Amino acid sequence: MELPFAEPYRIKMVESIRCSTREEREKWIREAGYNLFNLRSSQVFIDLLTDSGTGAMSDKQWSEMMLGDESYAGASSYYKLKAAIKDILGFDHFLPTHQGRAAENVLFSVLVKEGDVVPGNSHFDTTKGHIEFRKATAIDCTIDEAFNTTIDHPFKGNVDLNKLEDVLKSHSREQVPMIIITVTCNSSGGQPVSLANIKAVKQLALKYDVPVIFDSARFAENAYFIKTREEGQQDRSIREIVSEMYSYADGMTMSSKKDAIVNIGGFIALRDQELFRQASVFNIMFEGFLTYGGLAGRDLNAMAQGLYEGTEFDYLKSRVGQVALLGQKLTGYGVPVQMPYGGHAIFVDAGRILVNLPKEQFRAQTLAVELYLEAGIRGVEIGAILADRDPVTRENRYPALELLRLAIPRRTYTNDHINYVAVAMGNVYERRHQITTGYAIEEEAPILRHFTVKLSKI
Ligand SMILES: *Cc1c(COP(=O)(O)O)cnc(C)c1O
Repeated sequence: MELPFAEPYRIKMVESIRCSTREEREKWIREAGYNLFNLRSSQVFIDLLTDSGTGAMSDKQWSEMMLGDESYAGASSYYKLKAAIKDILGFDHFLPTHQGRAAENVLFSVLVKEGDVVPGNSHFDTTKGHIEFRKATAIDCTIDEAFNTTIDHPFKGNVDLNKLEDVLKSHSREQVPMIIITVTCNSSGGQPVSLANIKAVKQLALKYDVPVIFDSARFAENAYFIKTREEGQQDRSIREIVSEMYSYADGMTMSSKKDAIVNIGGFIALRDQELFRQASVFNIMFEGFLTYGGLAGRDLNAMAQGLYEGTEFDYLKSRVGQVALLGQKLTGYGVPVQMPYGGHAIFVDAGRILVNLPKEQFRAQTLAVELYLEAGIRGVEIGAILADRDPVTRENRYPALELLRLAIPRRTYTNDHINYVAVAMGNVYERRHQITTGYAIEEEAPILRHFTVKLSKI
């Protein structure tokens, strides 16, 4: 028999979690305005809200925390992380930031101005938020296959080169400050971008003289998919693939809360010294001095170690394998999910489950609340609430897909937890025809409304 995958680690410390009753959950979710972000974590049994900052650090990372150098300037922790970034990603210049959106804030303060357009593959919500906040426009150039959850394309994060070239052709060089490639593409379902596509985007970018910036949160998972799915990549190591990926980047923003497996942290890495110099000014203003950037020295140390652990093949295999296990179980129960399975999450196709619920009543949000009521599991809506209103017309935007994302924290839950989630979702799916009413918005913020929105049951 072929041996099954098993985690390349064992558990040394545990944290208690508690399963609540349905009555308790009904009360709590009502008090939370039917917004899962408003729940206390103690009101959640299995928390799949996000894989961001929720992973388990290793014994080596905890050891590195103890070795953190808390000097304000020139800490050894800064140099340790600088060396890891050079070694793994190949950049000479880097700026630590407290998380990924802070990296976006600093870099976009230099690059993005009013009236600009920023093409990319389904920009992440904070990325889009930071672009639109500067009165610029994010243009989605993802391939069409990404928007049909039933098509089994190996690289649904790919950029459509024709769409991209149309944007580059129809705008002046001054209007396009950068192209953003998100690896893996979070908003289209944790879907990877192929090495060939990354290379082709870079060639197009060179033709139009536009820098390419990678939004890098899940770069290692992307490299794993390249290794396992792309022609001719099977025999290369994850680090070799990562190294080639980044040879096509002019810079990157990173949320280290994902593939660097830390609870907080991020960074910007750049090739160009002048751009680095300009970004440094904003880093000092918004984040802190250049050698700590809003983090403690111990955080920088844990991040450096995490970058190495997060790019190990065996770890990535068990990580992506656990996500696929959830996908396989759900598919087995007939639940429609985004195909192929993403790297960090399973995206349940709420639009194809609650078909009779009007989209104005928020299908994915309704499904998310149902799953919480069923079993105390917290997922997150990737649908019309997240899509926000059009910045100009202020009309609700209804995206092509209404998804319920079940994000799996790294090294945190066992396969028994995965099984529990799958059965709970299967039960909700069984009674889908009884779910005939959704929710209406009571209160919302002008931007990134999904975090704080209050809803009422229709
Ligand atoms: C998480 C994430 C960000 C933002 O990072 P934070 O650390 O949450 O601020 C940006 N882009 C992508 C693709 C992400 O997944």
